[in-house]
Amino acid sequence: MLNVLRQIVQEVNNATDLDAALDILVARVKAAMKTQVCSVYVLDSENRRFTLRASEGLNRKSVGKVSLSAREGLVGLVAARAEPINLDDASSHPSYYFLPGTGEEHFKSFLGVPIIHQKRILGVLVVQQSLLRKFDEAEEAFMVTMSAQLSGVLAHAEATGMMLELSGNQNQTKKIKQDVVIPGSPAAPGIAIGFVTVLSPPADLYGVPDREIKDVDAEVRHFQGAINGARAQVKQLAEKLADLRPEEQALFDVYVRMLDDNALGEEVITRIKQKNQWAQSALRDVILQYVAHFDRMDDVYLRERATDIKDLGTRVLAHLQDSVSAPNEYDFPDNCVLVSEELTPSMLAEVPEHKLVGLVSAKGSSNSHVAILARAMGVPTVMGVVDLPVKKMDGIELVVDGYRGRLYTHPSAQLRQQFKDIVDEEQLLVEGLEAIKDLPAKTPDGHQIKLCVNTGLITDALRSVNRGGEGVGLYRTEVPFMMKERFPSENEQITIYRKQLLTFAPQPVTMRTLDIGGDKSLPYFPIEEENPFLGWRGIRVTLDHPEIFLLQVRAMLKASVGLDNLKIMLPMITSVAEVEEAQYLIHQAFHEVCDDGSDIQMPQVGVMIEVPAAVYQASAIARMVDFISVGSNDLTQYLLAVDRNNPRVAELYDSFHPAVLAAMQHVVTAAQAENCPVSVCGEMAGNPASAILLMAMGYDMLSMNATNLPRVKSVIRNVDMVFAKSVLAEVMTLDSPMMVSSTVQLALNRQGQGHILGPTRGKR
Ligand code: PEP
Ligand code: MG
Repeated sequence: MLNVLRQIVQEVNNATDLDAALDILVARVKAAMKTQVCSVYVLDSENRRFTLRASEGLNRKSVGKVSLSAREGLVGLVAARAEPINLDDASSHPSYYFLPGTGEEHFKSFLGVPIIHQKRILGVLVVQQSLLRKFDEAEEAFMVTMSAQLSGVLAHAEATGMMLELSGNQNQTKKIKQDVVIPGSPAAPGIAIGFVTVLSPPADLYGVPDREIKDVDAEVRHFQGAINGARAQVKQLAEKLADLRPEEQALFDVYVRMLDDNALGEEVITRIKQKNQWAQSALRDVILQYVAHFDRMDDVYLRERATDIKDLGTRVLAHLQDSVSAPNEYDFPDNCVLVSEELTPSMLAEVPEHKLVGLVSAKGSSNSHVAILARAMGVPTVMGVVDLPVKKMDGIELVVDGYRGRLYTHPSAQLRQQFKDIVDEEQLLVEGLEAIKDLPAKTPDGHQIKLCVNTGLITDALRSVNRGGEGVGLYRTEVPFMMKERFPSENEQITIYRKQLLTFAPQPVTMRTLDIGGDKSLPYFPIEEENPFLGWRGIRVTLDHPEIFLLQVRAMLKASVGLDNLKIMLPMITSVAEVEEAQYLIHQAFHEVCDDGSDIQMPQVGVMIEVPAAVYQASAIARMVDFISVGSNDLTQYLLAVDRNNPRVAELYDSFHPAVLAAMQHVVTAAQAENCPVSVCGEMAGNPASAILLMAMGYDMLSMNATNLPRVKSVIRNVDMVFAKSVLAEVMTLDSPMMVSSTVQLALNRQGQGHILGPTRGKR
């Protein structure tokens, strides 16, 4: 049964559109259940009706024509109850509603199961039989499992199918639907209107976007070159591994034959010629078709050939991609919206800065590190777009609404104008904020705090320097590490750090030691784990590799010669023992650098509080260090047990959760009792609504992305500390995150500060 389930899900997954997916579904389920009818009714959320969208066994002519209102019939009942209904004689049930023309009068028994995706009912899957008998428990369980597995696939097919729709009757030419909304999570505020470039991870068949080409002959030649390259590589491999077992040798022979007999190649070339497809997507389609075919086989040996074909296809794809020169400036449109299944920091660096206007990623959420970089760069970004039709987006015009987390494809003139108005309004606000750049972050009743910037890329350091901050509260040193192909050497690191220190001198620069793991992996130091955020991360990695830690600290110290504006900060601390060990190593590095003859001062060393355990050890930690800084991004993730990178649970990630606020208050109180300076460098610090709460709690310093700094400064300069404290007192009595955020918003609105929160008035 499991095998049948797997095959059906895979086939449906590979379908090109929703109707094809549904046709496959009903045919396969009918066969697997050995029943006479299998149909699927899809709910149209606009007119609240279930339409018979596919059927095997009912009259085909009624498909697409008959429908029921959302509460009508047994189908409506299955949906309303959100559970299966299994009847031996459907027609005698009070909810039975006869659908004329379908031919269902011939069938007695009925089993309907709801198809539900993220609490939303998408449709109802029904099987029927002429026999007067109930479907048995195993059959019902099969249908429930099937529907649960397919709901995500169908939701995706439905959402992606919306973009391109046929207008009117089927014979008219394809018309592109305008203003289709695709939801995601807001990840960096702002509006971008531009043209899409899809970037896919290298040698990933599933990630290849559709693209049309003009020069068919050149594309065919390009493809033949790649086939030759792959063939030579496979032969070479087989020779190198001459002492392989015979069955493995045989595999290489199969590969070579497949490439030699040209069957596969011919199919790809035909597609290039007939559909003007570029070689990469033609190859993708042919290989995935074969893979689906082999996957359907009952014979285990044959089924495993699917893996071989995929492997072979991936090799040819790698050759195709290798022979395309790295993209240069002219490959990107002027207003480029970069779209990817999974954006990575190095992708951000691929597009020239003056051309990049927006970013979109199917994976990740607003708390992912790529989103944090995007905010630092001030590029409107939407992430966690689960139903993003990545492959179909290359070249289309797109609006990215980074305030609300929405995308609009093929914008109409009217929609474009609406968004231009928002851009203009924001521009006015930003220009207004320029005036307070050099003024202190001081409330009208005289309370002053320090505002600093977070940096990572050298470009955002340059952008940050004139924003009116008072130094760097968090420099994420892992970012330059992520841009390289190996660990940077000591001298390379000295050069990078020196640039940061020089850019801000004499103001302090707080350098965090390497914080890799979680969603920050280095291509040359992969960490593969089941639960990366609970695994080998931050200080845990560097204490296990003192050579990496010592080298980094030495580079920081050497870079600070003559500037003395360096502070060092330790990420992901969970226990005092880790602090002691790290301090020991920092002292060792300091003495080594001094012994080498460098004239430096011992920098201040601080700790990030971002793990719940550290919250409850804040007093002990505060006694050991020169400062502490709360990493509210990780602290929120760990307190709420919500993976900050997972779009499925992004709605649950909320720094206004009362438990997060209580922890933030606990830390500042503990630090003050030990006379230890205490700051926040997570995203909470950069949101004007939470910033005033943090100020009221007693934090001395807030560090944030440079884009948000003027907004936070403005709100601080416009509200009294007495007011901030009264809002804090009120929200600390509340028990829901939503109530907290709306109470703060309302309070700011009453003070005439609502505009500073931006068009969302929302969380971020
Ligand atoms: C944090 O966790 O709040 C933080 C500032 O660190 P990062 O976002 O880089 O994990
Ligand atoms: Mg962190």
